[in-house]
Amino acid sequence: MSLELLDIHTHHTDGGPGEAIISKQPSELVIEPGRWYSTGLHPCYLKEGNMEEFVMMNKMVGQSQVLAIGETGFDRTTDVDYRAQKVNFQLHSFLANTCQKPLIIHMVKSMDWLFDAMKEMKPRVPWIIHGFRGKPESAKQLLNAGLYLSFGEKYNVEALRVTPLDRLFLETDEATCSIHDIYNKVAEDLEMNVEKLEKQVKNNINRIFFNR
Ligand SMILES: [Zn+2]
Repeated sequence: MSLELLDIHTHHTDGGPGEAIISKQPSELVIEPGRWYSTGLHPCYLKEGNMEEFVMMNKMVGQSQVLAIGETGFDRTTDVDYRAQKVNFQLHSFLANTCQKPLIIHMVKSMDWLFDAMKEMKPRVPWIIHGFRGKPESAKQLLNAGLYLSFGEKYNVEALRVTPLDRLFLETDEATCSIHDIYNKVAEDLEMNVEKLEKQVKNNINRIFFNR
C-alpha cells in the first residue's frame, strides 16, 4: 500500500518519490528504491527487435515495484500497422492476465480495435484507459464494458462527470503541471472537496494496484 501514490501514469521521473507510477519500456526500466513503475511497449514505437523487449518485460513484471503492464494499446494515427499493434497488445494482455497486474492502455481513435481485442483476450485484470480525452458517449461504452478511465491535464468535462468515482484515476503523463494541479482542477469540475477526491482515488489505487 502506498499513501503517497496519486499519479497512475507519468513519463517524468522528477516527482516526489512514490508519488507516481513511472512508465518505462522494458529496456529502459531501472528500478530505484521507493518508486513505482509500469512497463510495456507503446504501439507507436514498435519496431523490429521487439522480441528482446518482451523477454526483458517477462523478467521485470514479477518485481513488486512494477505495479502494472503498459503503456500499450492501439493508435490509428501512427504508421505502425494494425497487425503489429494487435500482436503487441495480445502479448501485453496475456502477460497482465498471467501476472495478475492491471493493464494501462493508450487508445487513440481505435475504440473498435480495443473492443475486438477485449472479446478475444477476455481480461482477468483491470484495464485502464489512460489520458482519456473522449466524449461522454465513449466513456459510457468503455465503463459499461468494465474498464477504468484515467484523466490527465486535458479532458472532456462531461466525460469526467459520467465516470463513477470508483472507476476514476488521475495522471500527469507528459504534462508539465503537477499531479496536485490536476486533482485541484478535477475537484473543481466535479464540484467536490479536493481532500475527498484524493481519498477516493487513493482507495481506487489501493484496490486496483495493491489488491486491498
Ligand atoms: Zn504516456
